[in-house]
Amino acid sequence: MIPACACLRSIKTRNNDLSGFIVQLEEVLSMAVPKRRVSKTRRDKRRTHWKLSAPGLSRCPKCHEVKMPHRVCAACGFYNGKAIVK
Ligand SMILES: [Zn+2]
Repeated sequence: MIPACACLRSIKTRNNDLSGFIVQLEEVLSMAVPKRRVSKTRRDKRRTHWKLSAPGLSRCPKCHEVKMPHRVCAACGFYNGKAIVK
């Protein structure tokens, strides 16, 4: 049997229309391929870090509304004791 690479090389030299496609095909054939299927345990262990975390929240010192820290209060528009948004 002719190795796929040698076969592709001969097609590439003979046919200019196909050369771009052949180059891509060669790239795909030379790509790393997983040796075996990832087990459910391995997959699930990988996903143990994949979760949402609750945002840090604090109270506005002026109106005591819950707000994100280091941001202007959405309720009263105050930050650092000054009216930023009216
Ligand atoms: Zn406020």
